[in-house]
Amino acid sequence: MSGHPVRLDQFMARANAAYYTQRDPFADFITAPEISQVFGELLGAWAATVWQMMGSPSRVMLVEAGPGRGTLMADMLRLIGRVLPALHAAADVMLVETSPTLRTVQRDALAGRTARPVRWCDTLADVPEYGPFILVANEFLDALPIRQFVRRAPAWRERAVDGLTFAEIDVPAAPDAEPLARAVPEGEVVELCEPALALARDLGARLARGTGAALFIDYGYDAPRWGESLQALYQGKPAWPLDHPGHADLTAHVDFRAFRLAAMAAGALTQGAVMQGAFLGALGLGARVARLSAGLSPEDAGRLREGAARLSAPERMGRLFKVVALRAPGLAPLPGFGDEG
Ligand code: SAH
Repeated sequence: MSGHPVRLDQFMARANAAYYTQRDPFADFITAPEISQVFGELLGAWAATVWQMMGSPSRVMLVEAGPGRGTLMADMLRLIGRVLPALHAAADVMLVETSPTLRTVQRDALAGRTARPVRWCDTLADVPEYGPFILVANEFLDALPIRQFVRRAPAWRERAVDGLTFAEIDVPAAPDAEPLARAVPEGEVVELCEPALALARDLGARLARGTGAALFIDYGYDAPRWGESLQALYQGKPAWPLDHPGHADLTAHVDFRAFRLAAMAAGALTQGAVMQGAFLGALGLGARVARLSAGLSPEDAGRLREGAARLSAPERMGRLFKVVALRAPGLAPLPGFGDEG
């Protein structure tokens, strides 16, 4: 088991690929769209506004990265079909998903809900560039593999996995990356999510060439910082990240600052990070819950309010989860971010 340390990102990529191919990875955790239909409905309304801001193009690619069970896209499409049928007709739905198991779940969740057949890609780089796009991604970036660097002045060492323990290996050439330029105390760790930065650069370049908007929702931070955030959930409970590879969900907090800077350097404008609670509030969470509650039994109305509170209350998901948007330079600031923009 030991003697062949594997770089942390390679370990995490393999473990998560196996994990998301299981029959039902969502037994271990619950995400915002699974908590309340209102989450997807508000994002559907957001997409509808963004499409109108684009000038209501006759075709638009509606992309979701890491769609899980397909619940978010199903809720968005239901809302869009109701409030803006022209967008429903214009949307080509494209899902970025590597797990064959989850693709099947998504196909079932979206059956009969789209104007044209849903398509899938393994990576965002494979999404064709034929025109305007609107992309959403909830809890996608946190699943992408990270590297961890340990400050051993004057250089860095890199975390690797050796059996059931961490090891440190030499870094042949420290990557030229913003997180590694931070002044960090001896022995502290910085994290670097290369696939997220590659994605930010790809999206930034697409947005500089064409028109589009992208929304990323995840737990993370938007200031320079250090410290490790790799965590594992095994059978619904926190676990040591190196136990149960392929059977535990491995995630890390998203470095939204590095993500935004990479997208901006490639040509996009960015908004956020704002807190999920503030974002959902700005999109009309309170009013929507009140309106829906009116037609429900007291028990169902209570459940709806409880779901909304779980998503937005600061001590629950409202503060930990952040929202960042990227947009083409030709677009006006996107809704949900207050006056900032
Ligand atoms: N957005 C969903 C699911 C989040 S779980 C929700 O909110 O419920 C993470 C999702 O990203 C899963 O669908 C998983 O299979 C997918 N995923 C993880 N790593 C990926 C990668 N490298 N490329 C594409 N999809 C990935």
